[in-house]
Amino acid sequence: AYNDFDTGNHWLPFTPNRHFRKEPRVFVRADGMHLTTHDGRQVIDGISSLWCVGAGHNRREINEAIKTQLDTLDYATTFQASNDRAFEAAGMIAALAPGDLNKVLFCNSGSEAVDTALKVALAYHRARGEGHRNVFIGRERGYHGVGFGGISVGGIPANRKAFGVAMLPRVDHMRFIHDPVDNAYIHGKDPVWKEDPLLELEQRILPLHDPSNVAAVIVEPVAGSAGWYLPPQGYLKRLREICDKHGILLIFDEVITGFGRMGTPFAADFYGVVPDMMTFAKCVTNGVQPLGGVVCRDKLYDQMMKTDAPEHVVEFFHGYTYSGHPVACAAAVATLQLYQQHNLFQRAGEMGKVLGDAFHSTLKGLPNVIGIRSLGCASAVELAPIAGTPGKRAYDIFLDCFKRGAWVRPAGDVLVIAPPYIVEKSHIEQLVGTLAESIRRHA
Ligand code: PMP
Repeated sequence: AYNDFDTGNHWLPFTPNRHFRKEPRVFVRADGMHLTTHDGRQVIDGISSLWCVGAGHNRREINEAIKTQLDTLDYATTFQASNDRAFEAAGMIAALAPGDLNKVLFCNSGSEAVDTALKVALAYHRARGEGHRNVFIGRERGYHGVGFGGISVGGIPANRKAFGVAMLPRVDHMRFIHDPVDNAYIHGKDPVWKEDPLLELEQRILPLHDPSNVAAVIVEPVAGSAGWYLPPQGYLKRLREICDKHGILLIFDEVITGFGRMGTPFAADFYGVVPDMMTFAKCVTNGVQPLGGVVCRDKLYDQMMKTDAPEHVVEFFHGYTYSGHPVACAAAVATLQLYQQHNLFQRAGEMGKVLGDAFHSTLKGLPNVIGIRSLGCASAVELAPIAGTPGKRAYDIFLDCFKRGAWVRPAGDVLVIAPPYIVEKSHIEQLVGTLAESIRRHA
């Protein structure tokens, strides 16, 4: 009955397509690097489920922490109150975050984190008497979740075409300039783009809106959902300089890159650039309990809280019923301890190199391969699209890999592998070997 999602009472999957009816993929168990499907097949998890299971599935330490928390304090609102686990988790996240990013605002997902960050930006500028700063700048092909804020600053047209034009009104997008071949990264060799992507920001976008009206620029340091597109040398540093010059806030959406995917705590560390705010979700709880949030610089928080309003007046009304949920925060504390105890961020970087080597040595030269990109614990192979049906080749390859026991992720005409950090060399060989065979079969 799993292929009956139209008439059943549960809307499956969350991105339905007609194909799922023919071939449902329903998971019933998971452990370590593997998941088991409803028809009893073992599938190796090549995409950390949705980039979120960094430490692998079913980690006893996290499960135990959740059970203990449930028995101690099952729920406590953070509306005009708080709880001890939220303090503990926030302290650990602030300690990991770079520079003076020390203030953590919790929510429940990456999409909520993006909305939260955009609202903090607006509130910060208003608190400084610059309420006119309300333009947001994103990037073509950026993915920032499915809230109205996220689809407005996001740059994947397919993600919003079903919803008409009900978006944030004052948004612009930097053009996506990328060459799949030049973008290849081999240990230490930086990707190069043919055109300077920041010239457009300086020459078209900022003059058009007037920089003094711009609230924030939001980017994924590495564009994850679009297909792991790496920024060129110095890109984020220069973006930081441009923002500083004009008093514009810089937001890194670290929902995918945060908590180890780059081999460092955050992409901000990897690139040596400190943003004004970072969003996080996914790996913060190893995917086990919904938790997201924003870490912002002390000066933003201080400015927003500097007020002569009466004590009982709320200046920044924002938060969710489940913000700082003690069970989610307990999961975060246990997850971050686990990452630390097993040096899993470092391991992510090391195994990412093994993965990158496997991509470059196994996939290069296969039919239709036009680019390979590896960085951190993720690698992508870009294929020439089939004329008239973009995305079809990669989707078919994903299905074929899945049937043969390897879960890889299609993104347009790109296939991505981003395994849990506990991945072993033998898993990488299986994943990349299966992918290579499928690419050959779909020549
Ligand atoms: N931002 C980025 C960069 C993401 O990759 C995602 C999820 N893939 C989101 C935001 C949205 O997160 P969520 O699905 O938890 O709402």
